[in-house]
Amino acid sequence: MPADGPSLSDRLARQIEAGGPISIAHYMAEANAHYYNSRDPLGAAGDFTTAPEISQMFGELCGLWLADIWMRSGRRANPYYVELGPGRGTLAADALRAMEMAALAPKVHFVETSEALRAKQRANVPHAQWHDDLDSLPQDGPLLVVANEFFDALPVRQMVATPQGWRERVVIRALNGEPGRFAPMAGYRPMDSAVPDSLRHAPEGAILETSTASATVAYALALRIAKQGGAAIIIDYGYEGPAFGDTLQAVRGHKTANPFADPGDSDLTAHVDFACLGNMARQAGLRIFGPVGQGAWLTALGIDARALALAGKSPERTQEIESARSRLTADDQMGTLFKAMAFVHPDWASAEGFNG
Ligand code: SAH
Repeated sequence: MPADGPSLSDRLARQIEAGGPISIAHYMAEANAHYYNSRDPLGAAGDFTTAPEISQMFGELCGLWLADIWMRSGRRANPYYVELGPGRGTLAADALRAMEMAALAPKVHFVETSEALRAKQRANVPHAQWHDDLDSLPQDGPLLVVANEFFDALPVRQMVATPQGWRERVVIRALNGEPGRFAPMAGYRPMDSAVPDSLRHAPEGAILETSTASATVAYALALRIAKQGGAAIIIDYGYEGPAFGDTLQAVRGHKTANPFADPGDSDLTAHVDFACLGNMARQAGLRIFGPVGQGAWLTALGIDARALALAGKSPERTQEIESARSRLTADDQMGTLFKAMAFVHPDWASAEGFNG
């Protein structure tokens, strides 16, 4: 982060003064680019904790899932491990170790825009190669892909139902006395044509979210898998849309915050529409599995046995391992809100963990 130059807040304020309100998607994209590029947000000392940071079991089971489908699909040559938004590289390190036990040692490619997190990833997985986006990923082998809490960081647009019809929700400068520097409001341009017929007649205030960025990345990923072979496991918190709801959320220091107060200093996320991701993959000709709850998926893959084995090796850690297992799988924790969905090449084997 440059020490001089205007802050992100100042830049956004100037953009709004010069060009009028900006979209929620534009605001979210700018805020998250700055946020991730300037820090490591993960873990107890940061803003939020993700599944791979809770326990090695999570990454190991992702790795074993990929190794299993690769083996049952005929051990195709020259596979690549690809991770989207790998955070600290913890998941990848755990997954690669588990894959090695299955005699699978893929080359490692990370799609990551944050310089701060690339440095952490390099320390954990020194032999990885980095990409700004999917375009430059290798083309000469099947892709074994993981994306955990990646899609939730991509920008969403919001449409809001007003008495005058649907409008895009936009960001303006907050008025004096309002909390935070920015505030959302309904834009002026009619947007009814952007809302599916079946949802047109919604109650006033209803909000409909769409993420072009997520759809674009999901489609690009699916096209690559269709062309090169492979499978992807996508885990995130989300729903099967279309559905109404404002899921834009800011988290700072493990607490929710006002998304419009300090752009670039809190983590902005929106729930992932798994139906949309699935449609993209189907259009590219892939098979879809799920979504199922993260808890059901991890349980089907054997997290209970893995927890017992780990506790057997380190009895003094039994309590900690059990509490991590429960955090990842319990319905009132991450087990239901977080969901897993798989994209699989039509000639590859069926995905494990989705029939239950
Ligand atoms: N998967 C990790 C980190 C999740 S946080 C874990 O589970 O711990 C989101 C990750 O996505 C971060 O690594 C962030 O830098 C990355 N990211 C966010 N937006 C991105 C974008 N547009 N392109 C590539 N990576 C992005």
